[in-house]
Amino acid sequence: MYDIVIIGAGPAGLSAAVNTSFLKLTSVVIDDTQAGGALIQAYPWKKVDYFGFYEVSGKELAEIFVEHARKNGVEIIEGEEALDIKKLDEGFEVITTKNSYKGKTVVLATGIIGTPRHLNVKGEDLEGIYYYLKDPEGYRGKKVLVVGGGDSAVENATALSLNGAEVYVAHRRDEFRAMVKNQERLFKTNAKIFWNTEVKEFVGNKKVEEVILFNNKTGEEFELEVDNVFIFIGSVLKKEFFQRLGIEMEGNFVKVNKDFMTNIPGVFAIGDITPGIKRISKAVYEGEAVAFSIFKFLKNPYWGKND
Ligand SMILES: Cc1cc2nc3c(=O)[nH]c(=O)nc-3n(C[C@H](O)[C@H](O)[C@H](O)COP(=O)(O)OP(=O)(O)OC[C@H]3O[C@@H](n4cnc5c(N)ncnc54)[C@H](O)[C@@H]3O)c2cc1C
Repeated sequence: MYDIVIIGAGPAGLSAAVNTSFLKLTSVVIDDTQAGGALIQAYPWKKVDYFGFYEVSGKELAEIFVEHARKNGVEIIEGEEALDIKKLDEGFEVITTKNSYKGKTVVLATGIIGTPRHLNVKGEDLEGIYYYLKDPEGYRGKKVLVVGGGDSAVENATALSLNGAEVYVAHRRDEFRAMVKNQERLFKTNAKIFWNTEVKEFVGNKKVEEVILFNNKTGEEFELEVDNVFIFIGSVLKKEFFQRLGIEMEGNFVKVNKDFMTNIPGVFAIGDITPGIKRISKAVYEGEAVAFSIFKFLKNPYWGKND
């Protein structure tokens, strides 16, 4: 029986594990893919925006987080998806695709990157349409359409362009939502931007060959031949997983109290799945805060009473 079973080895889950190890609580972190979360899965190549870590890529920062956790004796299990959580007389049992783990408490830190938002237009299931950019250098000489206007779209379009792709960006509004510094970098590249433009349909024989776009102000339709398409229009929380567990939601997020506890006593939630900005700093902070909450929950220390 661990003190804590943490589901998700992104910055939130790893921070929770490291910080609970400082408090001498035992934990196991389970991840369905690879430890590192979005940093390793969605932007391993990118120089992250994270205070104090300039010029560090997503992959490098993920490796630092993982090493920090391992050096503090945290057990990390990779390649196992948590499917269910059962309430026991004492604590919980987390059932994964391969095993089950018992914990006095559970921390949900599953992020949202596993479920990218889709456009839901015809042809979106064709090959060559992606929701993550793993290797910006792999598209040199290719004609690529990027859909979206937030930081992911703008940063990925910039990286593709700087690495020799012919880049087009379609955004449904007449201005980007991305941070100004990211916009400025994109505007310096050769990328062509279609403002007020949406995708009507993807066309191709097995693989995407052409995109039918339309201007949502004028109604004008036009076609663009492409080799690849990247859709970056955000991610959505896999609500069913939480609802099935009986966890109360707050809109599209998991509802937590000031101790990051859900409506189920002993089950906590942190990181991108809770309301607020979606940044590494928030995930890391919530990992630290939940460590103290769990210590209070399990040990009932004198200092926890007036917190
Ligand atoms: C393209 C992109 C660029 C970004 N750039 C920045 C940046 O420069 N600076 C910044 O501060 N933020 C950035 N972010 C946001 C930042 O990465 C997230 O806010 C942060 O990773 C959230 O951490 P998390 O631990 O909550 O979730 P995640 O990092 O998403 O980690 C969750 C982990 O849980 C795993 N998981 C999910 N479901 C299960 C399950 N059922 N069982 C087991 N494991 C599961 C996932 O596979 C994943 O590994 C960026 C995000 C994206 C998509």
